[in-house]
Amino acid sequence: MEVKNSSSCYKLVRLALAALGSAPKRSRPGLKKRERAQRILQRLEETYPETPIPLDHTDPFTLLIAVLLSAQCTDKKVNEVTPALFTAGPTPAAMAALDEETILNHIRQLGLAKTKARNVKKLAQILVTAYDGEVPASFEELEALPGVGHKTASVVMAQAFGVPAFPVDTHIHRLAQRWGLSSGDSVQRTERDLKQLFPEEAWNKLHLQIIFYGREYCTARGCDGTVCPLCTELYPNRRKPVIWRKP
Ligand code: SF4
Repeated sequence: MEVKNSSSCYKLVRLALAALGSAPKRSRPGLKKRERAQRILQRLEETYPETPIPLDHTDPFTLLIAVLLSAQCTDKKVNEVTPALFTAGPTPAAMAALDEETILNHIRQLGLAKTKARNVKKLAQILVTAYDGEVPASFEELEALPGVGHKTASVVMAQAFGVPAFPVDTHIHRLAQRWGLSSGDSVQRTERDLKQLFPEEAWNKLHLQIIFYGREYCTARGCDGTVCPLCTELYPNRRKPVIWRKP
């Protein structure tokens, strides 16, 4: 009787087990993109089961203003100035009644303060005249307001109205590249790629979880990809610094 070598025997065993639906998986050099996405979702949910909204607010209007003020500025700084600003102008009507100089005095320590003060005043006036003092719950109407871009509109839609959105900030743009989920060509591309990879019902929480992870672990500087828990799990063999493209 012919004696098979060990490799042939292994193939036969694999074929037999495959027929039974229990073939051992071949080892792979790294995780595929969808597997990485799945792992990220799972680990971030374990790490950040709660996702408190970082910008202090009490309603859609104060959230909208806080997000507008956070452009090129930390949430912590915004949270320092908004209590006094929102006391002076708690509603669109009250904010619209303030003069620009008063708004500016409240937010002077933020970057781009003059432009932001002008936009806050104009935006509040538009909400009063065109929307009966309410914040509109649509991307199109939000993006038409002064100082409100797609990212700001997405944050408000997600966090104030619970509509699925994936606002991409610098942390998300960076981590999507470092985790091999997007090429980093543009923020728009990153948003599209992430929306395709993750289930819609996860977007609103996940975008905050990625931001939390980015703030805690992943700085803007280059890294050797071996220091943080998720990267080491996703890329156990990574040794070289990960180059990433800024938005
Ligand atoms: S190892 Fe840490 S710092 Fe480096 S890319 Fe990963 S998360 Fe960022």
